Amino acid sequence: MILNITCIPGDGIGPEIVTQAKKVLEKVASKYGHEMRFTDILMGGASIDACGEPLTDEAIATAKAADAVLMGSIGGNTSTSPWYKLPPEKRPEAGLLKIRKALNLFANLRPAYLYEELAAACPLKEEISKAGFDMLIMRELTGGLYFGERKTVEENGELKAIDTLTYSESEIRRIAIKGFEIARKRRKKVTSVDKANVLDSSRLWRKVVNEVAENYPDVTVEHMLVDNCAMQLVKDPAQFDVILTENMFGDILSDEASMVTGSIGMLSSASLNDSKFGLYEPSHGSAPDIAGQDIANPIATVLSAAMMLRYSFDLDKEADAIENAVRQVLKDGYRTGDIYSAGTTKVGCNEMGDLLCERI
Ligand code: NAD
Repeated sequence: MILNITCIPGDGIGPEIVTQAKKVLEKVASKYGHEMRFTDILMGGASIDACGEPLTDEAIATAKAADAVLMGSIGGNTSTSPWYKLPPEKRPEAGLLKIRKALNLFANLRPAYLYEELAAACPLKEEISKAGFDMLIMRELTGGLYFGERKTVEENGELKAIDTLTYSESEIRRIAIKGFEIARKRRKKVTSVDKANVLDSSRLWRKVVNEVAENYPDVTVEHMLVDNCAMQLVKDPAQFDVILTENMFGDILSDEASMVTGSIGMLSSASLNDSKFGLYEPSHGSAPDIAGQDIANPIATVLSAAMMLRYSFDLDKEADAIENAVRQVLKDGYRTGDIYSAGTTKVGCNEMGDLLCERI
Protein backbone atom coordinates (compact mmCIF):
# COMPACT_ATOMS: atom_id res chain seq x y z
CA MET A 1 0.00 0.00 0.00
CA ILE A 2 1.22 3.54 -0.74
CA LEU A 3 0.63 5.92 2.17
CA ASN A 4 0.72 9.64 1.33
CA ILE A 5 1.33 11.44 4.60
CA THR A 6 1.68 15.17 5.16
CA CYS A 7 3.94 15.88 8.13
CA ILE A 8 3.90 19.03 10.25
CA PRO A 9 7.09 19.01 12.33
CA GLY A 10 6.07 22.37 13.87
CA ASP A 11 8.00 24.10 16.64
CA GLY A 12 10.01 23.28 19.77
CA ILE A 13 10.51 19.52 20.11
CA GLY A 14 8.15 18.95 17.15
CA PRO A 15 10.84 18.30 14.50
CA GLU A 16 12.74 15.89 16.81
CA ILE A 17 9.73 13.75 17.70
CA VAL A 18 8.31 13.70 14.15
CA THR A 19 11.70 12.47 12.86
CA GLN A 20 11.44 9.49 15.22
CA ALA A 21 7.85 8.74 14.19
CA LYS A 22 8.85 8.80 10.51
CA LYS A 23 11.73 6.43 11.25
CA VAL A 24 9.36 3.99 12.97
CA LEU A 25 6.83 4.24 10.11
CA GLU A 26 9.59 3.53 7.55
CA LYS A 27 10.54 0.43 9.55
CA VAL A 28 6.93 -0.78 9.63
CA ALA A 29 6.61 -0.10 5.89
CA SER A 30 9.71 -2.13 5.04
CA LYS A 31 8.56 -5.02 7.24
CA TYR A 32 4.99 -5.19 5.89
CA GLY A 33 5.63 -4.18 2.26
CA HIS A 34 4.20 -0.63 2.19
CA GLU A 35 5.59 2.61 0.80
CA MET A 36 5.62 5.81 2.89
CA ARG A 37 5.52 9.08 0.95
CA PHE A 38 6.09 11.99 3.33
CA THR A 39 5.61 15.66 2.43
CA ASP A 40 6.46 18.27 5.08
CA ILE A 41 4.52 21.52 5.52
CA LEU A 42 5.10 24.45 7.85
CA MET A 43 2.67 25.46 10.57
CA GLY A 44 2.77 27.54 13.74
CA GLY A 45 5.85 29.59 14.59
CA ALA A 46 7.95 27.99 11.84
CA SER A 47 5.40 29.19 9.26
CA ILE A 48 5.19 32.69 10.82
CA ASP A 49 8.97 33.00 10.51
CA ALA A 50 9.10 31.72 6.93
CA CYS A 51 5.81 32.97 5.42
CA GLY A 52 4.49 35.63 7.81
CA GLU A 53 1.38 33.64 8.78
CA PRO A 54 0.77 30.51 10.92
CA LEU A 55 -0.62 28.40 8.04
CA THR A 56 -0.68 29.20 4.34
CA ASP A 57 -3.39 28.17 1.87
CA GLU A 58 -0.74 26.17 -0.06
CA ALA A 59 0.06 24.21 3.11
CA ILE A 60 -3.65 23.46 3.61
CA ALA A 61 -3.92 22.28 0.00
CA THR A 62 -0.97 19.91 0.52
CA ALA A 63 -2.58 18.50 3.68
CA LYS A 64 -5.92 18.04 1.91
CA ALA A 65 -4.26 16.12 -0.92
CA ALA A 66 -2.70 13.60 1.51
CA ASP A 67 -4.26 10.44 3.01
CA ALA A 68 -3.49 11.62 6.56
CA VAL A 69 -1.57 14.27 8.49
CA LEU A 70 1.02 13.57 11.18
CA MET A 71 1.92 16.49 13.40
CA GLY A 72 4.52 17.18 16.09
CA SER A 73 3.47 20.24 18.01
CA ILE A 74 3.34 23.98 17.49
CA GLY A 75 3.92 27.07 19.61
CA GLY A 76 6.71 28.61 21.62
CA ASN A 77 7.27 29.96 25.09
CA THR A 78 4.12 32.04 25.53
CA SER A 79 5.87 34.57 27.83
CA THR A 80 9.10 35.18 25.88
CA SER A 81 8.51 34.27 22.23
CA PRO A 82 7.94 37.21 19.83
CA TRP A 83 5.14 35.13 18.20
CA TYR A 84 2.94 36.00 21.20
CA LYS A 85 3.29 39.75 20.62
CA LEU A 86 1.24 39.25 17.43
CA PRO A 87 -2.57 39.58 17.42
CA PRO A 88 -4.33 36.27 18.35
CA GLU A 89 -5.28 35.42 14.74
CA LYS A 90 -1.60 35.61 13.68
CA ARG A 91 -0.18 33.49 16.53
CA PRO A 92 0.98 29.85 16.14
CA GLU A 93 -2.23 28.32 17.61
CA ALA A 94 -4.34 30.06 14.93
CA GLY A 95 -2.76 27.61 12.45
CA LEU A 96 -4.14 24.68 14.43
CA LEU A 97 -7.68 26.09 14.50
CA LYS A 98 -7.45 26.87 10.78
CA ILE A 99 -6.35 23.37 9.78
CA ARG A 100 -8.99 21.70 12.00
CA LYS A 101 -11.66 23.82 10.33
CA ALA A 102 -10.29 23.38 6.79
CA LEU A 103 -10.16 19.60 7.17
CA ASN A 104 -13.53 19.42 9.00
CA LEU A 105 -12.02 17.47 11.89
CA PHE A 106 -15.03 17.01 14.17
CA ALA A 107 -14.03 13.92 16.16
CA ASN A 108 -11.17 14.03 18.63
CA LEU A 109 -9.83 10.77 20.05
CA ARG A 110 -7.54 10.64 23.05
CA PRO A 111 -6.56 7.28 24.47
CA ALA A 112 -5.47 7.06 28.11
CA TYR A 113 -3.59 3.86 28.88
CA LEU A 114 -1.69 2.89 32.01
CA TYR A 115 1.50 0.96 31.25
CA GLU A 116 2.33 -1.53 34.00
CA GLU A 117 5.96 -0.37 33.88
CA LEU A 118 4.95 3.27 34.49
CA ALA A 119 2.32 2.58 37.17
CA ALA A 120 4.46 4.39 39.77
CA ALA A 121 3.83 7.68 37.89
CA CYS A 122 0.04 7.22 38.21
CA PRO A 123 -1.25 9.56 40.93
CA LEU A 124 -4.09 7.17 41.90
CA LYS A 125 -3.97 4.90 44.96
CA GLU A 126 -2.25 1.59 44.21
CA GLU A 127 -5.43 -0.40 44.95
CA ILE A 128 -7.03 1.45 41.98
CA SER A 129 -4.05 1.67 39.61
CA LYS A 130 -3.17 -2.01 39.93
CA ALA A 131 -6.29 -2.89 37.91
CA GLY A 132 -4.78 -0.83 35.04
CA PHE A 133 -6.91 1.06 32.51
CA ASP A 134 -7.20 1.42 28.77
CA MET A 135 -9.80 3.96 27.64
CA LEU A 136 -10.39 6.28 24.74
CA ILE A 137 -12.16 9.62 25.01
CA MET A 138 -14.12 10.49 21.88
CA ARG A 139 -14.84 14.22 22.02
CA GLU A 140 -17.01 16.22 19.60
CA LEU A 141 -14.68 18.99 18.44
CA THR A 142 -16.58 21.52 16.32
CA GLY A 143 -19.91 22.16 18.07
CA GLY A 144 -21.37 22.96 21.48
CA LEU A 145 -20.49 25.79 23.83
CA TYR A 146 -17.12 26.66 22.24
CA PHE A 147 -18.71 27.36 18.86
CA GLY A 148 -22.06 28.83 19.94
CA GLU A 149 -23.02 32.51 19.78
CA ARG A 150 -21.55 34.58 22.59
CA LYS A 151 -21.84 38.16 23.74
CA THR A 152 -21.40 40.44 26.74
CA VAL A 153 -24.09 43.07 27.32
CA GLU A 154 -24.79 45.65 29.97
CA GLU A 155 -28.05 45.16 31.81
CA ASN A 156 -29.29 47.16 34.82
CA GLY A 157 -25.88 48.72 35.28
CA GLU A 158 -23.86 45.47 35.30
CA LEU A 159 -22.22 43.33 32.68
CA LYS A 160 -23.88 40.08 31.65
CA ALA A 161 -22.10 37.42 29.54
CA ILE A 162 -23.99 34.89 27.39
CA ASP A 163 -22.61 31.73 25.76
CA THR A 164 -24.89 29.38 23.85
CA LEU A 165 -24.69 25.60 23.64
CA THR A 166 -26.20 24.20 20.46
CA TYR A 167 -26.15 20.70 18.98
CA SER A 168 -28.10 19.43 15.99
CA GLU A 169 -29.15 15.80 15.52
CA SER A 170 -26.75 15.40 12.59
CA GLU A 171 -23.78 16.73 14.59
CA ILE A 172 -24.52 14.23 17.38
CA ARG A 173 -25.21 11.35 15.01
CA ARG A 174 -21.90 11.61 13.11
CA ILE A 175 -19.78 11.63 16.29
CA ALA A 176 -21.87 8.82 17.84
CA ILE A 177 -21.31 6.68 14.72
CA LYS A 178 -17.53 7.30 15.02
CA GLY A 179 -17.71 6.30 18.70
CA PHE A 180 -19.51 3.02 18.02
CA GLU A 181 -17.28 2.19 15.03
CA ILE A 182 -14.17 2.67 17.16
CA ALA A 183 -15.65 0.69 20.07
CA ARG A 184 -15.98 -2.20 17.58
CA LYS A 185 -12.19 -2.07 17.14
CA ARG A 186 -11.74 -2.18 20.94
CA ARG A 187 -13.64 -3.85 23.84
CA LYS A 188 -17.09 -2.96 22.45
CA LYS A 189 -18.38 -0.71 25.20
CA VAL A 190 -19.51 2.93 24.84
CA THR A 191 -20.13 5.18 27.86
CA SER A 192 -21.99 8.24 26.60
CA VAL A 193 -21.48 11.19 28.94
CA ASP A 194 -23.95 14.07 29.21
CA LYS A 195 -25.90 16.21 31.67
CA ALA A 196 -29.34 15.01 30.61
CA ASN A 197 -30.87 15.77 34.02
CA VAL A 198 -30.43 19.50 33.28
CA LEU A 199 -29.60 20.32 29.65
CA ASP A 200 -31.84 20.02 26.58
CA SER A 201 -28.76 19.55 24.38
CA SER A 202 -27.84 16.55 26.54
CA ARG A 203 -31.35 15.08 26.30
CA LEU A 204 -31.10 15.27 22.51
CA TRP A 205 -27.57 13.82 22.72
CA ARG A 206 -28.88 10.82 24.69
CA LYS A 207 -31.82 10.25 22.31
CA VAL A 208 -29.60 10.27 19.20
CA VAL A 209 -26.93 8.07 20.83
CA ASN A 210 -29.65 5.51 21.68
CA GLU A 211 -30.88 5.57 18.05
CA VAL A 212 -27.33 5.02 16.72
CA ALA A 213 -26.77 2.24 19.30
CA GLU A 214 -29.59 0.22 17.70
CA ASN A 215 -27.34 -0.31 14.67
CA TYR A 216 -24.54 -1.69 16.86
CA PRO A 217 -26.12 -4.57 18.82
CA ASP A 218 -22.64 -6.01 19.48
CA VAL A 219 -21.60 -2.85 21.37
CA THR A 220 -22.80 -2.25 24.94
CA VAL A 221 -23.97 1.32 25.59
CA GLU A 222 -24.42 3.05 28.93
CA HIS A 223 -25.17 6.68 29.85
CA MET A 224 -23.40 8.56 32.60
CA LEU A 225 -23.81 12.09 33.93
CA VAL A 226 -20.68 14.16 33.50
CA ASP A 227 -20.21 14.90 37.21
CA ASN A 228 -20.38 11.19 38.00
CA CYS A 229 -17.94 10.45 35.14
CA ALA A 230 -15.41 12.92 36.58
CA MET A 231 -15.57 10.96 39.85
CA GLN A 232 -15.50 7.52 38.23
CA LEU A 233 -12.33 8.41 36.27
CA VAL A 234 -10.37 8.57 39.51
CA LYS A 235 -12.39 5.95 41.43
CA ASP A 236 -12.58 3.13 38.89
CA PRO A 237 -10.99 4.03 35.52
CA ALA A 238 -10.79 0.35 34.52
CA GLN A 239 -14.56 0.34 33.83
CA PHE A 240 -14.19 2.56 30.72
CA ASP A 241 -13.57 1.57 27.12
CA VAL A 242 -14.87 4.38 24.83
CA ILE A 243 -16.17 7.55 26.52
CA LEU A 244 -18.33 9.44 24.00
CA THR A 245 -19.07 13.05 24.82
CA GLU A 246 -19.63 16.62 23.64
CA ASN A 247 -17.02 19.34 23.22
CA MET A 248 -16.65 21.00 26.63
CA PHE A 249 -17.22 17.86 28.73
CA GLY A 250 -14.65 16.09 26.52
CA ASP A 251 -12.14 18.91 26.91
CA ILE A 252 -12.23 18.59 30.69
CA LEU A 253 -12.55 14.80 30.96
CA SER A 254 -9.74 14.10 28.47
CA ASP A 255 -7.31 16.24 30.49
CA GLU A 256 -8.40 14.46 33.67
CA ALA A 257 -7.91 11.05 32.00
CA SER A 258 -4.45 11.99 30.72
CA MET A 259 -3.40 13.22 34.17
CA VAL A 260 -4.27 9.90 35.79
CA THR A 261 -1.80 8.12 33.48
CA GLY A 262 0.91 10.35 34.98
CA SER A 263 2.96 10.56 31.74
CA ILE A 264 2.11 13.27 29.21
CA GLY A 265 4.98 12.22 26.89
CA MET A 266 3.16 8.92 26.22
CA LEU A 267 -0.28 10.15 25.14
CA SER A 268 -1.36 10.15 21.50
CA SER A 269 -4.38 11.75 19.85
CA ALA A 270 -6.28 11.85 16.59
CA SER A 271 -8.80 14.23 15.04
CA LEU A 272 -10.96 12.71 12.30
CA ASN A 273 -13.44 13.90 9.68
CA ASP A 274 -16.34 12.09 8.00
CA SER A 275 -14.06 9.95 5.87
CA LYS A 276 -10.99 8.02 7.01
CA PHE A 277 -8.91 11.20 6.92
CA GLY A 278 -7.33 12.34 10.18
CA LEU A 279 -4.75 14.56 11.83
CA TYR A 280 -2.62 12.68 14.34
CA GLU A 281 -0.55 14.39 17.03
CA PRO A 282 0.74 13.89 20.57
CA SER A 283 -1.44 15.27 23.39
CA HIS A 284 1.42 17.37 24.74
CA GLY A 285 2.69 20.75 23.51
CA SER A 286 5.95 21.81 21.87
CA ALA A 287 7.96 21.80 25.14
CA PRO A 288 10.18 24.77 24.20
CA ASP A 289 12.04 24.32 27.51
CA ILE A 290 13.68 21.11 26.25
CA ALA A 291 13.74 21.73 22.46
CA GLY A 292 16.90 20.86 20.51
CA GLN A 293 18.48 18.86 23.35
CA ASP A 294 17.58 15.34 22.15
CA ILE A 295 15.83 14.57 25.44
CA ALA A 296 12.13 14.72 24.42
CA ASN A 297 10.01 11.59 24.65
CA PRO A 298 8.94 10.66 21.09
CA ILE A 299 6.53 7.89 22.19
CA ALA A 300 3.32 9.97 22.12
CA THR A 301 4.05 10.90 18.49
CA VAL A 302 5.03 7.34 17.59
CA LEU A 303 1.75 6.09 19.14
CA SER A 304 -0.12 8.79 17.17
CA ALA A 305 1.44 7.30 14.03
CA ALA A 306 0.10 3.89 15.16
CA MET A 307 -3.38 5.42 15.49
CA MET A 308 -2.98 6.78 11.96
CA LEU A 309 -2.25 3.30 10.59
CA ARG A 310 -5.25 1.88 12.47
CA TYR A 311 -7.90 4.53 11.79
CA SER A 312 -6.94 6.11 8.44
CA PHE A 313 -5.48 3.02 6.72
CA ASP A 314 -7.12 0.05 8.54
CA LEU A 315 -3.62 -1.40 9.03
CA ASP A 316 -4.31 -3.02 12.42
CA LYS A 317 -1.43 -5.50 12.33
CA GLU A 318 1.05 -2.71 11.60
CA ALA A 319 -0.43 -0.50 14.37
CA ASP A 320 -0.18 -3.45 16.79
CA ALA A 321 3.51 -3.83 15.84
CA ILE A 322 4.22 -0.24 16.92
CA GLU A 323 2.21 -0.52 20.14
CA ASN A 324 3.94 -3.80 21.01
CA ALA A 325 7.36 -2.21 20.35
CA VAL A 326 6.49 0.57 22.83
CA ARG A 327 5.46 -1.99 25.47
CA GLN A 328 8.64 -4.00 24.84
CA VAL A 329 10.99 -1.02 25.04
CA LEU A 330 9.48 -0.12 28.42
CA LYS A 331 9.74 -3.75 29.60
CA ASP A 332 13.40 -3.71 28.55
CA GLY A 333 13.91 -0.79 30.91
CA TYR A 334 14.57 2.12 28.51
CA ARG A 335 13.20 5.54 29.46
CA THR A 336 13.48 9.13 28.29
CA GLY A 337 14.08 11.67 31.07
CA ASP A 338 10.39 12.49 31.65
CA ILE A 339 9.53 8.87 32.60
CA TYR A 340 12.91 7.88 34.07
CA SER A 341 13.08 6.22 37.48
CA ALA A 342 15.99 4.67 39.39
CA GLY A 343 17.00 1.27 38.02
CA THR A 344 16.02 2.04 34.41
CA THR A 345 18.25 3.16 31.52
CA LYS A 346 17.97 6.80 30.45
CA VAL A 347 18.08 7.36 26.67
CA GLY A 348 17.62 10.37 24.38
CA CYS A 349 14.92 11.04 21.80
CA ASN A 350 16.89 9.69 18.83
CA GLU A 351 18.02 6.55 20.66
CA MET A 352 14.46 5.87 21.79
CA GLY A 353 13.44 5.97 18.11
CA ASP A 354 16.19 3.48 17.24
CA LEU A 355 15.20 1.15 20.10
CA LEU A 356 11.58 1.18 18.92
CA CYS A 357 12.64 0.39 15.33
CA GLU A 358 14.72 -2.57 16.56
CA ARG A 359 11.57 -3.97 18.20
CA ILE A 360 9.29 -3.68 15.16
P1 NAD B 1 3.93 21.31 27.00
O1 NAD B 1 3.12 20.08 26.90
O2 NAD B 1 4.69 21.71 25.80
O3 NAD B 1 5.00 21.14 28.20
C1 NAD B 1 4.61 20.91 29.55
C2 NAD B 1 5.77 20.20 30.28
O4 NAD B 1 5.86 18.85 29.83
C3 NAD B 1 7.14 20.84 30.00
O5 NAD B 1 7.92 20.77 31.15
C4 NAD B 1 7.73 19.96 28.91
O6 NAD B 1 9.14 19.92 28.91
C5 NAD B 1 7.14 18.59 29.24
N1 NAD B 1 6.92 17.76 28.04
C6 NAD B 1 5.93 17.91 27.12
N2 NAD B 1 6.07 17.01 26.15
C7 NAD B 1 7.16 16.28 26.45
C8 NAD B 1 7.82 15.20 25.82
N3 NAD B 1 7.39 14.67 24.66
N4 NAD B 1 8.93 14.69 26.39
C9 NAD B 1 9.39 15.19 27.55
N5 NAD B 1 8.79 16.20 28.21
C10 NAD B 1 7.70 16.76 27.65
O7 NAD B 1 2.96 22.47 27.50
P2 NAD B 1 3.21 24.04 27.64
O8 NAD B 1 4.59 24.29 28.18
O9 NAD B 1 2.04 24.55 28.36
O10 NAD B 1 3.15 24.61 26.16
C11 NAD B 1 4.27 24.88 25.34
C12 NAD B 1 3.80 25.33 23.98
O11 NAD B 1 3.09 24.27 23.34
C13 NAD B 1 2.84 26.52 24.03
O12 NAD B 1 3.15 27.41 22.98
C14 NAD B 1 1.49 25.89 23.81
O13 NAD B 1 0.56 26.79 23.24
C15 NAD B 1 1.84 24.78 22.84
N6 NAD B 1 0.87 23.68 22.76
C16 NAD B 1 0.65 23.18 21.53
C17 NAD B 1 -0.22 22.12 21.38
C18 NAD B 1 -0.46 21.57 19.99
O14 NAD B 1 0.35 21.82 19.10
N7 NAD B 1 -1.52 20.82 19.75
C19 NAD B 1 -0.86 21.56 22.48
C20 NAD B 1 -0.57 22.07 23.76
C21 NAD B 1 0.30 23.15 23.89
